[in-house]
Amino acid sequence: MNTPRWSGTRREFLAQTTAGAAALAVGARAQGAAPRKLGVALVGLGSYSTGQLAPALKLTQHCRLAGVVTGSREKGRRWAQEFGFPESSIYGYDTMSRLADNKDIDIVYVVTPNSLHAEHTIAAAWAGKHVICEKPMANSVADCDAMLRACRVAGVKLAIGYRLHFEPQHREMMRLAQDPQFGPFVRMQGGLAFPINRRVWRVEKAMAGGGPLMDIGIYCLQAACMAADAKGDAHATFAPVAVTAREHPKKRPEFFLDVEETIEWTMEFANGAKAQLITSYNGGADQFRAESAQGNWIEFQPGFGYGGFKVATNKGPLGITPPQSQQALQLDGLAECFRDGKPIPVPGEMGRRDMVIIEAIYRSAARGGERVEIKV
Ligand code: NAD
Repeated sequence: MNTPRWSGTRREFLAQTTAGAAALAVGARAQGAAPRKLGVALVGLGSYSTGQLAPALKLTQHCRLAGVVTGSREKGRRWAQEFGFPESSIYGYDTMSRLADNKDIDIVYVVTPNSLHAEHTIAAAWAGKHVICEKPMANSVADCDAMLRACRVAGVKLAIGYRLHFEPQHREMMRLAQDPQFGPFVRMQGGLAFPINRRVWRVEKAMAGGGPLMDIGIYCLQAACMAADAKGDAHATFAPVAVTAREHPKKRPEFFLDVEETIEWTMEFANGAKAQLITSYNGGADQFRAESAQGNWIEFQPGFGYGGFKVATNKGPLGITPPQSQQALQLDGLAECFRDGKPIPVPGEMGRRDMVIIEAIYRSAARGGERVEIKV
């Protein structure tokens, strides 16, 4: 991780960031005024920003696109025209510290490759902005700790882009887990896989931190924690007590040089619940099922994409209308948390917890499937 530069003194930095956070809170409390839409700056204008987040920011009620951080000024100009923000709100990765002077931008949303999340999150925190960081939070627990520390010192909030926590059908699964008439869930099983055939950063360990586990297996891991959390302890550190994992032999070892191609793992929870999960960059899967001891169950197939979920339970369909855009719900939900001081359902601590679990899964696989205990 490269540590971003801050040109002023620590005292100036703290004064600036605490003043910015206080101004945001006062703005939200202004009597009688409709709350201001918070300004979001997207960092990295790749496929997720372009295909999902930018369209969602045209639907949001509590936030709007107010700037970008990009390696291409030309691209930034096209975005500025389309979204109606000034060219002065286009930044480069090396000029993120100047975000500190931009009062139109309240939230920085980091959507760059995984290995850059820590550097960009810390730069945003140092500029006094709340941060949404895409999953996985970082490539190591140590980087997660550095990100949490920077946000704490700067007095800004950190959320992870776990969109499914805002999606009504997944929220219903969490509610059912906590309903004694339906849950708790004791057996979970799921998988997420798709083929990758191009040499992109996702198959480079230095950039991605690992293979499919970091990129898409994390959805299965998240779903298992959401379903196993029978107390609804939205408290970000609810975790399994142990994991065991096994990496499958590679079918294309020449392509997956230093990352796994397929990995399966088991998560054990303190109440005896177990989740059996698999992820791969070979083949296809998109499914999650949770069952209670008394035979209630919920199944998503597909269940992890941007929409079009098919959800069944032993008691019939959920009868929930899917949202137009999960990402719009996520962005609005988080903007309200930042603006109104509500608890964040997907805080940085949850991203860190998931990295603790992922590191334990890799450790178990490297030790031939040894059971590894989790300490969050
Ligand atoms: P992408 O490759 O399409 O885009 C990455 C962007 O980062 C590009 O604009 C690229 O120019 C920029 N970038 C900056 N520095 C770079 C560097 N040194 N090397 C390579 N690119 C650099 O990737 P993406 O699919 O948009 O994914 C970005 C992040 O978003 C990842 O962390 C990914 O896990 C996450 N993501 C989340 C979801 C979700 O559903 N929550 C979906 C897709 C991606």
